[in-house]
Amino acid sequence: MSGGDKLDFEIRPNPQPVAAAERAALMANPGFGRVFTDHMVTIRYAEGKGWYDARVEARGPIPMDPATAVLHYAQEIFEGLKAYQAVDGGITMFRPDANAARFADSAQRMAMAPLPEQVFLDSLHHLIDIDRAWIPSGEGGSLYLRPFMFGSEVFLGVRPANEYLYVVIASPVESYFSSGVKPLTVWASPTYTRAAPGGTGAAKCGGNYASSLIAKAQAAENDCDDVIFLDAVERRYVDEMSGMNIFFVYDDGTLATPTLGTILPGITRESVLTLAREAGHQVVERQVGFDEWRADAASGRLREVFACGTAAVITPIGTVRHPGGEFAIAGGEPGSVTMGLRQTLVDIQRGRTEDTHGWVHRIA
Ligand SMILES: *Cc1c(COP(=O)(O)O)cnc(C)c1O
Repeated sequence: MSGGDKLDFEIRPNPQPVAAAERAALMANPGFGRVFTDHMVTIRYAEGKGWYDARVEARGPIPMDPATAVLHYAQEIFEGLKAYQAVDGGITMFRPDANAARFADSAQRMAMAPLPEQVFLDSLHHLIDIDRAWIPSGEGGSLYLRPFMFGSEVFLGVRPANEYLYVVIASPVESYFSSGVKPLTVWASPTYTRAAPGGTGAAKCGGNYASSLIAKAQAAENDCDDVIFLDAVERRYVDEMSGMNIFFVYDDGTLATPTLGTILPGITRESVLTLAREAGHQVVERQVGFDEWRADAASGRLREVFACGTAAVITPIGTVRHPGGEFAIAGGEPGSVTMGLRQTLVDIQRGRTEDTHGWVHRIA
């Protein structure tokens, strides 16, 4: 069946899966994005034919002609989400429908064929099911899922590709906080911006990351963990980090986060907006000036700042460095609102707290 909202997946189990003992050794200290499971999903698209050839098969190289479109014009998008071992022993995903919808939005922006959202969800279920032995069981560990899609047509002309390859791979990862909560030091880039109005900032495309790497390298040269991008027009307002959104917590209990537009609409960001409001905080989406940030940190009005995204969930920002110097937020220590929201979110993801929002999807 092709073109519809449902595809039949051909399941071809890996004839040579990693042996159990070796898998256990790999999963003992997986880090992030270094260890991969036995399988992958692939689905093809061709103009006029629709989506076809959905498979779950042994993970392996993707043969590619040197003239494959993505290698030249970077028509590529991706997603990132996690599968968890819940406290009751079940397997869950957190808001995969939101990832499916964002993947379709990213495809639309990059002039790519949209994958039906149900097919996206089915692909995740199939991969988790066959690779369930790779889901870490310990607190904090999870199976990171990486769906992605690229222009696979062999053609050097400048236009949207007529063929696409959708792939899902999976990687067991340990907790970002396995060595304790350490507030980030961030570098406010004076040189580089991430996204301009009308650009691709709201799409989860590889190109956004390609252009952010030099800023991240500059951050590292300044002994910082990540980069803060300011808006591309006035270079005054805080946008986000290289892969995380940002929240500000004030002494009157209100929270602020930059308005959507050029930033990536994070699912963690959206979840935090909801949870913070339910916890009684007033939360505003608005432009936050970098000078305002510095002044409010100095006056003490600003109590906490945190970054959020799927990989690290919620992580405090302690210190901001820029060419003119640096400043700390509340002495650089993790704040109680930050850590409280983090706990609430993790408890929902792990099934320790009732999921009143329909965010948790169970894998049968
Ligand atoms: C993926 C991503 C985020 C976080 O999104 P989540 O859905 O919360 O994981 C934030 N910023 C950028 C640039 C991203 O690519």
